[in-house]
Amino acid sequence: MHYPEPIAKLIDSFMKLPGIGPKTAVRLAFFVIDMKDDDVMDFGRALVNVKRQLVYCSECQNISDHDPCYICGDTSRDRTTICVVQEPRDVIAMEKMRDYRGLYHVLHGAISPVDGVGPEDIKVAELIKRLQNEEVQEVILATNPTIEGEATAMYISRLIKPAGVKTSRIAHGLPVGGDLEYADEVTLSRALEGRREL
Ligand SMILES: [Zn+2]
Repeated sequence: MHYPEPIAKLIDSFMKLPGIGPKTAVRLAFFVIDMKDDDVMDFGRALVNVKRQLVYCSECQNISDHDPCYICGDTSRDRTTICVVQEPRDVIAMEKMRDYRGLYHVLHGAISPVDGVGPEDIKVAELIKRLQNEEVQEVILATNPTIEGEATAMYISRLIKPAGVKTSRIAHGLPVGGDLEYADEVTLSRALEGRREL
């Protein structure tokens, strides 16, 4: 099938999204053609702005439209505890349960030797730096309960122990092999409560 070039390009762009195959990409492209001009412009701007207007918080490395982000900038939060998560989406999952009032640190990945991801490829050094500068007493390792997440938690725990900071790992009410972001709030809340010292 030969589509006019603008359509072919749009189809290609949709196919870069997760879970979108060729058929769906074609359907979406033709849907866009039938959309109102204003809606298409808004959509395009939203795509561009999500890259242009977002920054990484220089403290917790979470994505935000402010630096420091709203959580790091919130003086009512407990600055003695840092919860370490893999992805920005995990912060949203943790915040939804409303039990946790400490700070976060987003690693942007997990250590995975098979995929060639080492500690230097994720935001571990930034975490260590925070521990030197701030009044942190506990680091909660809330990486995913997967092989990579466990390996990352162990690595970080060994690294920060000499600094005299308490490290704990969230409990396994979480399904093994699961993602933190898909855990329901009750499970997540229990996992946080039942954390054990490493
Ligand atoms: Zn932050």
